Amino acid sequence: MDFSSSKSLFAKAQQYIPGGVNSPVRAFKAVGGSPIFIKSAKGALVFDEDGNEYIELINSWGPMILGHGNELILKAVSDAIQHSFSFGAPTRREVEMAELLVNMVPSVEKVRMVNSGTEATMSAIRVARGFTGRDKIIKFEGCYHGHGDSFLIAAGSGAVTFGTPDSPGVTKGVANDTLTAPYNDLAAVQNLVEANKGQVAALILEPVVGNMGCVLPAPGFLEGLRKLCDQEGIVFIFDEVMTGFRLAKGGAQERFGVTPDLTTMGKIIGGGMPVGAYGGKAEIMNCVSPAGPVYQAGTLSGNPIAMAAGLAMLTYLNENPEVYQQLEATGNQLVSGFQATNAKLGLPYTINHVGSMYTQFFTDQVVTDFPSAKSSNLAMFGKYFHAMLQRGIYLGPSQFESMFISTAIDQTMVNRIIEANEDALKEIHA
Ligand code: PMP
Repeated sequence: MDFSSSKSLFAKAQQYIPGGVNSPVRAFKAVGGSPIFIKSAKGALVFDEDGNEYIELINSWGPMILGHGNELILKAVSDAIQHSFSFGAPTRREVEMAELLVNMVPSVEKVRMVNSGTEATMSAIRVARGFTGRDKIIKFEGCYHGHGDSFLIAAGSGAVTFGTPDSPGVTKGVANDTLTAPYNDLAAVQNLVEANKGQVAALILEPVVGNMGCVLPAPGFLEGLRKLCDQEGIVFIFDEVMTGFRLAKGGAQERFGVTPDLTTMGKIIGGGMPVGAYGGKAEIMNCVSPAGPVYQAGTLSGNPIAMAAGLAMLTYLNENPEVYQQLEATGNQLVSGFQATNAKLGLPYTINHVGSMYTQFFTDQVVTDFPSAKSSNLAMFGKYFHAMLQRGIYLGPSQFESMFISTAIDQTMVNRIIEANEDALKEIHA
């Protein structure tokens, strides 16, 4: 494969952009080599600047549930752009979007649109603090909630990929208000709450983690946290930036039957445009300005083009439950294919999977938390990543990420991915 255009773009990018990228994981640092620069995408295929074609399992880190360049979304966006790009004033679509989100997500009674997942989580904890009058929050090791200061403590995703789960630039004061617990360890959370009695405003987690690779909640974990939050008056926040509208129409909370007080949503609700939202109990959301005293704002929030794209996609998801059956079936097929390959080749690797999210961890340990995720052989993952790329399969370029399946992956592509996986594993173990 020729990567010369991507390579020269990356050389130039490094001159003008820190590390050559606008978001760290894109740089391929974790897997070595030079990132490929994407030119276009359609369905499940992406095309790079050198004309190489790949089946992709990143899908913009989640949002392209219906694949790239979906006709419905394209039409909604091209209709919307005829009427200008931003007004900084209320629009009909924002109301329709809020109504749809409230109808789709069981726990959301009121919702505020923002521009990214980071803004959604930052705002949600501010509201939780305003509502409870408390300062501290609890998060889990290896969960990533965007790059807000409070969350860059034991963070997953790019933060762990680059070995900086605790970022310089975050003040000690902020760090002291963030308490961290191991994922799936209810007793540890109970101890933290006990040791900080009456001081914890919010407990935030990814109900299924995508950011240390895919890690599922142990049976009873979410329920136990819900009970603890009720007992202690803590605002329970599900960060559904990855899981929302993906694991079920109503996200992980619908799938696992556990109801948070607040939910943060991100990229998915923009169908690929820069969007986020946070919402939940009316009693809490009524604290947000101008209804209440907690300030949060945004010139581009509820942007008409982004709303048009998101509304088109979410309306489709809402009205076509077979999407979820298809995502489920494709996920099951891929993962059972990978498991059969591991059995055939005698490889001990752990695959975590739920619906259209999965990670193949290069470890023989059961992966239930951050330490077990980190037991993976990262050098081996890097080799695997490149072996897959060479076979036309574009994976997330880090072990600590989940793969995302779209409805655009058809049977032929499923077979190609399973074959490529087997060939790649054989190559790296040769
Ligand atoms: N929360 C979760 C669970 C995420 O996965 C991400 C990003 N991958 C974020 C928050 C931050 O979203 P954004 O990158 O849009 O700021």
